[in-house]
Amino acid sequence: MFKQITVISGKGGTGKTTLTASFAYLTRDKAIFADADVDAPDLHLIFHPTIISEEELYISKKVKREEEKCIKCNKCSEVCEFQAITADEINYFKCEGCGLCVHICPEKALSMEPILSAKIFESQTRFGPFVHAEMTIGEGTSGRIVDQIRQKARKIAETKKLDFVIVDGSPGIGCPVIASITGVDLACIIVEPTLSGIHDLERIFGVAQHFKVKSVVCINKFDLNIKNTNNIMQFCKKNNITVVGKIPFNKIVPKSIIQGKSTFELEENPVSKEIISIWKNIQTELFD
Ligand code: SF4
Ligand code: SF4
Repeated sequence: MFKQITVISGKGGTGKTTLTASFAYLTRDKAIFADADVDAPDLHLIFHPTIISEEELYISKKVKREEEKCIKCNKCSEVCEFQAITADEINYFKCEGCGLCVHICPEKALSMEPILSAKIFESQTRFGPFVHAEMTIGEGTSGRIVDQIRQKARKIAETKKLDFVIVDGSPGIGCPVIASITGVDLACIIVEPTLSGIHDLERIFGVAQHFKVKSVVCINKFDLNIKNTNNIMQFCKKNNITVVGKIPFNKIVPKSIIQGKSTFELEENPVSKEIISIWKNIQTELFD
């Protein structure tokens, strides 16, 4: 049976994707990867996926009007809290799909219609299979889309008898993050040694604890502020969290992003060396 790991962080831009892409290099053809950062996906920029199949996901509903039935009474506009509808037009970006206007319309001119929420892709990459999504602009159901992405990744892992499902999670502590970590074997929290980073770590660890997900911590750019790094270490010690590694600040990371590669695919560097050790420590946490 495969193990599931999600890489998460309190906010975007903390090195989550760099770490996930490096894990992809280290687990070539033994893992499937899933980009659950559906609001700002970027793993594809490093993976350069070749799409094998796509699936349309209809989750949300929005209001639709049969214009010939409408008598322009404006009752729909009066009840819509989101200013999404008037007798003359519907603003689909503002419509939250509550359905109130449908019930109020005296002419039954309104109905709720399913809309395309996202396209989910199964792709092949130089590291192995990859599941990712393209969300419809204005769509607000990212938690359910993440859930679908993870379901698809698990099915493929089962069919292909892979060892790991590795998820690039959403940042923050909202619904998509919860959908990224529920039921996984390990959440790897990546944090930078800043004051807000420590605060984010406390919040995200709280979420993982609430959902009974075992967490480990990886400190990125640890050498930029040793005092804050020590504070993170202390927090982890106090809460019995394993620190799986400390990645030094190094220009190889932006270089790898610009070139669309993992850090391992560039010249020898200390970041990759540390990530080898992090991956070993993660396996110890998973299998011991
Ligand atoms: S409530 Fe119905 S009939 Fe009245 S303006 Fe809205 S859509 Fe038209
Ligand atoms: S479904 Fe709700 S949000 Fe959308 S237009 Fe009707 S009342 Fe407004």
